[in-house]
Amino acid sequence: MNFQPVLDEIDAELRPLLGRAGTVASYIPALARVPALHFGIALRTCDGQEACAGDAAVPFSIQSISKLFTLTLAMRRLGDALWQRIGREPSGNPFNSLVQLENEQGKPRNPFINAGAIAVADRLLSQGDAQRDILALMSDLAGEPIAFDEEVAASEAATGYRNYALANFMKSFGKIDNDVAPTLDVYFHQCALRMTCLQLARAAAFLSRDGAHPLGGRPAVCTERQTRRLNALMLTCGTYDAAGDVAFSIGLPCKSGVGGGIVAVVPDHLTLAVWSPALDTTGNSLLGLKALELFVAKTGLSVF
Ligand code: GLU
Repeated sequence: MNFQPVLDEIDAELRPLLGRAGTVASYIPALARVPALHFGIALRTCDGQEACAGDAAVPFSIQSISKLFTLTLAMRRLGDALWQRIGREPSGNPFNSLVQLENEQGKPRNPFINAGAIAVADRLLSQGDAQRDILALMSDLAGEPIAFDEEVAASEAATGYRNYALANFMKSFGKIDNDVAPTLDVYFHQCALRMTCLQLARAAAFLSRDGAHPLGGRPAVCTERQTRRLNALMLTCGTYDAAGDVAFSIGLPCKSGVGGGIVAVVPDHLTLAVWSPALDTTGNSLLGLKALELFVAKTGLSVF
């Protein structure tokens, strides 16, 4: 199937809606000043076909989408031992909630809420230079150098009061091995990864290929079983408190971030990345979700 006309149609349908609704994340200045009037979409199929439309080549802050990649690294390194520290249930609470963490003795519900991702960052830090390892993984998967936006990382650190609270809370329960400051330094940097839709579609392509490397001819990124689990977690926990609605209306494993990006997987077919900075009330990209809904409607591709 030639997907280029499908992406062009989606871009043409959604572009007139840019700026009409939603709010750009404003908790740090570097995100608040991103113009809302962007829409990009890109995909990479299992056999290496690529298509993109709109602002697919404009870099943006991938924010929580990074949780998917740090989890991949941690699953690869630690195997099932990782799950001693982190659960696999949807939280039903805001992504940065402290209450649930207290009730559950410092064990985060899942790796895609902030507490869970901070716990993953701690595990990676115990294994070595986590920031270097994250950049190496992202650059290897995308096939070109990927960098942190240091201004975003510094702002995350300057305003991340809740993340400090979550990390200190887990530390007090003995659920974090490293000091809070270096652990959060990893977390703030991963949130500050800057990538384009096309780079993201490539980097996450292993999720539609049973863990095989996106660019082929290189060692697998993770096993088939780990890939199934990553997709399951994306479907159940990947889009904040909207995961049920997203499964209902789109039916694809997705991971979103407050920078307005969403990665979606059609197992055995393709990986998509969409970006539009204006968010809905659940913190997901408004037009990003619409684009995925349109894609599924136009192609009939869904896991259900
Ligand atoms: N970097 C932000 C935080 O940790 C938001 C991440 C996101 O949900 O995309 O609070």
